[in-house]
Amino acid sequence: MDKLRLKKLLSYQKMILSQIALGVPLNAVLNDICLSIEEIFNSETAKCSILSLSGEQLFHCAGPHIHPGYRQAINGIKIGNNVGSCGTAAFLKKQVIVDDITTSVLWQNFQPLADQYQLKACWSTPIISSAAELLGTIAVYHSEPRVPTHQELELIDFFAHFTSIALEKNSESEKVKRLIANLTQSNNKFAAFTKVMPDLSLILSEEGEYIDIYGSSNDMLYRSVNEMLNQKVTDMLPSQDAEAVMSVIAKTLSTNDVQIFEYDLEIQGRFMTFEGRTACIDNYLAEDPQKKHIVWVARDITVRKKTEQEINRLAFFDPLTSLPNRRMLSDRLNMYVDVVKATTKTGALFFLDLDNFKRINDSLGHGAGDEILIEVASRLSNTIRNIDTLARVGGDEFVLLLECIGDGDEQAVIEAEHVANKLQNAFNDEFKLGELVFKVNCSIGICLIDENNSDPENILKYADTAMYRSKMNGGNRSHFYDPALQSLLDSQTEIESDIVRAIAANEFCAYFQPQVDKAAKVIGAEALIRWIHPTKGLISPNEFIPIAEQYGLLQSLQNIVLRDICSLLQVLNEKQVIDDTFKISINISHGQFSSATLPHTLFNTINEFNISASQIKLEITETMLSVDNASTVQQMDELQQLGFTFSIDDFGTGYSCLAHLSTFPVDELKVDKSFIDKILDKGAGFSILQTIINLGKSLNLAVVAEGAETQEQFELLQSVDITAVQGFYIAKPMSHSNYLTWHLGQ
Ligand code: C2E
Ligand code: MG
Ligand code: MG
Repeated sequence: MDKLRLKKLLSYQKMILSQIALGVPLNAVLNDICLSIEEIFNSETAKCSILSLSGEQLFHCAGPHIHPGYRQAINGIKIGNNVGSCGTAAFLKKQVIVDDITTSVLWQNFQPLADQYQLKACWSTPIISSAAELLGTIAVYHSEPRVPTHQELELIDFFAHFTSIALEKNSESEKVKRLIANLTQSNNKFAAFTKVMPDLSLILSEEGEYIDIYGSSNDMLYRSVNEMLNQKVTDMLPSQDAEAVMSVIAKTLSTNDVQIFEYDLEIQGRFMTFEGRTACIDNYLAEDPQKKHIVWVARDITVRKKTEQEINRLAFFDPLTSLPNRRMLSDRLNMYVDVVKATTKTGALFFLDLDNFKRINDSLGHGAGDEILIEVASRLSNTIRNIDTLARVGGDEFVLLLECIGDGDEQAVIEAEHVANKLQNAFNDEFKLGELVFKVNCSIGICLIDENNSDPENILKYADTAMYRSKMNGGNRSHFYDPALQSLLDSQTEIESDIVRAIAANEFCAYFQPQVDKAAKVIGAEALIRWIHPTKGLISPNEFIPIAEQYGLLQSLQNIVLRDICSLLQVLNEKQVIDDTFKISINISHGQFSSATLPHTLFNTINEFNISASQIKLEITETMLSVDNASTVQQMDELQQLGFTFSIDDFGTGYSCLAHLSTFPVDELKVDKSFIDKILDKGAGFSILQTIINLGKSLNLAVVAEGAETQEQFELLQSVDITAVQGFYIAKPMSHSNYLTWHLGQ
């Protein structure tokens, strides 16, 4: 090679290598390689082209003087034996020199194409990578048949080497570019995901150091990301929480299992509950792949937790007083009796029922009743220990479960009595409702719980029974469960269901007992209820009225009596056998009397029968006058305005406050039979009768004697200033038709 050529060659080499190093686009480098070869060949006819291999196809990369038509024609050609110079060279991975295309078998299939572009010779050299892989071919065409010189072939090899460097470098940088693109894409995906991720993901080192924090919102972070990164959990969180997290980390690492835990944190003044999940991650840090890390995913479950708590509260707590409800009590009792069975300890269950609560509710309204219940709940709660369960199990019913109040029953009884006193003391202070101040008491029933008495249902029933005993003894007291009382109650419940049946079977009716004046003229009658039982015969009201009252059945019975009174009065009115002064008395019980609906009920019924209220006398007892003065007077005034009159039944037995008698709109006093029994011989009964008669006179009240059984009694009563007499001597209580016959016979 001459000097000039060598110089040229060296300068091209320098240029091409610097282009490769500088990252000039591959096409430009390859183009310059082609131009360099053509230039050094110093031949008018030499045209160079470079093809790259992809799979089994060759693609044109450069060939500045190759006709575009030819380039297009061979672009993508599949390599193989006899596929021109380049296709064959690539296939055989060795140089293929075709000095005359027209005669070459390799070009057999491409003659017309070579002719079209005046290509007569083609020398192709494979481009081999440093790893001995085929990258493409480099071809030199001539427009005349020509054999290359040895020097020319060396020159082509020389440039093939550069081309391989350029192609390799390019494929390297393509690879890097692809890698970067992939990395950017996965980073973008990760960023997009963490941006919307509701949870917080924290990466911690084994030592509890925050390494990375991912999450959409800072609202869940205890401190800002910057403050937390590279800091330790123990330096960030409150010590108790930090300890808990550290022990979870330790457990995650030792078990290699996912750990789930719950924790509360105050974040920006808001109490939040989180569910944390931790797991180990390997190879988190490229620089230290051996080091273990923990991923801690924190999920805000504050709302879910609150909802759960609310559901729990509604299911197990009374919404009014926030005390446990019956369900929770029964859960605790069930659990407790299991414990009791295995020990010698004794517990106790207290059943509390407020006295006269219904009256407060009825007269002052439910709002007032609710306030009382809330106050009662709070007072009772203050008297018990944390471990005791106080539940509200019904309207004004509370149950207190004391677990273990003694070793054995004797000690437990003493302790239970002590507790009962404390509970009762909670009612010592008056209850205030706005301006109103009043007393509320409670009746308590106690049932001890021990190995012999450990059936939850029975325990509740027994305490309830004992509470009834307190009620029956006047309320505001406590009683222990007594089996004898249970059998009494059982028979009462039987009677109660029999009453319900009997009402439907029309077994109740009113009997009528006449009242006569001193001249023996009938001036009225008392209606007395009777139960004509299909198997037991006539049952006295004393046997069923208290039970009916207790179970809320008295109203139905009273309606029967009132309707019977009205229908009798209707007949008497029609027959015109009575005058305006004739009245029939009806007994009104305590419960009915305090009911706000009484005037309405009475009035509606008499209107239905077209009976005047002046024909009805309401018998109430003295005890009803001694309670709650203001509302009693109000109730009586209302009834009086409707036209009803009042008689005080069994007068003399109720220790009524005589001084206050004048404040009530009373019309009549009915002297109790026990005094009439003792009036003969001018005994004690007689002087009491005299006193009552004088009282009646001074207050301008009628006085009726009841229970006169003999002629002597009647005659004596005629001799004093009595208004009327009622008793077996005149007539026994009679059915509607018997009474009518008797009345018409007078
Ligand atoms: P009470 O209102 O004092 O009625 C008088 C009771 O004395 C009646 O008993 C009557 O039969 C009885 N009696 C009347 N004269 C004599 C007599 O000469 N000798 C004797 N030994 N007894 C006489 P009864 O009917 O058994 O009623 C008992 C109580 O039951 C009544 O006492 C009353 O408190 C209550 N009662 C009766 N009917 C009703 C009713 O419809 N509603 C309510 N709430 N209570 C009623
Ligand atoms: Mg009566
Ligand atoms: Mg009476």
